[in-house]
Amino acid sequence: MKGCYFCKGKLVEEKVKVDFRWGRRLKIIENVPADVCQQCGEQYFQSAVYKAMEKLAASRKKPVSRLTVDVHRFKAAV
Ligand SMILES: [Zn+2]
Repeated sequence: MKGCYFCKGKLVEEKVKVDFRWGRRLKIIENVPADVCQQCGEQYFQSAVYKAMEKLAASRKKPVSRLTVDVHRFKAAV
């Protein structure tokens, strides 16, 4: 297995939670297999996994749960 593209850290396969943007919607997909860098936390997905996430995000299937998300506009600290 290759190391991290950014920091050359070690990649370990884990199940992660992904914030997936689909148009104006934000969907959170749980339990996604990814190679996670143990140093910087970068996540790598196989293209088949990514395609499956897109399909899931586009589907009208009822989600397992629903979250409320607050949107803020960045403002520099004074
Ligand atoms: Zn890394």
